[in-house]
Amino acid sequence: MTTAQNRIKGSLAVVGLGPGAADLMAPRARAALEAAEVVVGYRTYLDLVRDCLNPASEVLASSMMQEIDRCRTALALAGQGKKVALVCGGDPGIYAMAGLVFELAQAADADLPIDVIPGIAALNACAAILGAPLMHDFAAISLSDLMTPWELIERRLEAVAAADFVVVLYNPKSKKRTDQIVRAREIMLAHRSPTTPVGIVSGAAREHETVRLTTLDRMLGEEIGMQTTVIVGNSQTFVWRDRMVTPRGYGRKYGL
Ligand code: SAH
Repeated sequence: MTTAQNRIKGSLAVVGLGPGAADLMAPRARAALEAAEVVVGYRTYLDLVRDCLNPASEVLASSMMQEIDRCRTALALAGQGKKVALVCGGDPGIYAMAGLVFELAQAADADLPIDVIPGIAALNACAAILGAPLMHDFAAISLSDLMTPWELIERRLEAVAAADFVVVLYNPKSKKRTDQIVRAREIMLAHRSPTTPVGIVSGAAREHETVRLTTLDRMLGEEIGMQTTVIVGNSQTFVWRDRMVTPRGYGRKYGL
C-alpha cells in the first residue's frame, strides 16, 4: 500500500472510559478499543480497562502529566495510517483530552478523521450514587489552577454560588493543592446556609469507592483527594434516607 493510501486509513478515536467499572463503559467505546491498532493513554486508566483491550493492539501507556505528548503521539500515529484510540477517564470532552486533540490538530492542520466517543463523566456517576442532586441547574467547576488562573476560578465560584446553582467541584484537592477547597467552601458559605447538603464521592465505580453526605459547615472534616468529586446542593437540596436530592419543582407546582 502506498503512503497516501495508508494515510486515508488512519483515524483517531478519543474514547471516554467512564468512571471505572467495565459495565459503565459505553458499547461504542468498547468497540473502539477492540478495533484500535494502537491504544494510547494514562497508565491508571489503561489498567482499569485492560480486559477490554484487544491482545493484538499495541498499548502505549504514559504517566499523568504527559497529556500533550500523549495527544501528539496519538495524532502522529493516526497520521501515519494507524487506527488509534486515545483513552480518557469519564468523558473525553470534560476536563480531559478531546479539546487538546482538536487544538493540536488545528495547529498542525491535520487532515484525518477524529471521533469523540462519550463516556459517563464523574458528575453523572457521582450524582447517581448520591441520589439525584443534579435535578436542577448546575455548574461544574474545576478547582485546579494549574492551567486556569485562580482569580478566574474564584470569579466563577462566586457567580454560581450567588445564582443558586448546584455546584460540582472537580479536582478539589491534591497533595500540593490543599487551599482551593477551603476557599471554595468560604465562597459558597457567603451565599448559602451552613446546613446545605454536600455529597463527597471518591473513586466512584471503582473498588475503593467511598460516599459521604455532609453539610457545607462540616465538609472539610471529610477526606477529599485526587479521585474525589464534591457536589454542593442549592438552597432547595435536601437529604432523605441518605440520598441527596435537588427537587425539580414538581412539589411546588403540583403539591406532591
Ligand atoms: N474526564 C473526567 C474528568 C477528569 S478530571 C470526567 O469526565 O469525569 C479528574 C477529576 O475528575 C478528579 O480530580 C475528580 O474530581 C473527578 N473524578 C474522576 N474520576 C472519578 C471517580 N471515579 N470518582 C469521583 N471523582 C472522579
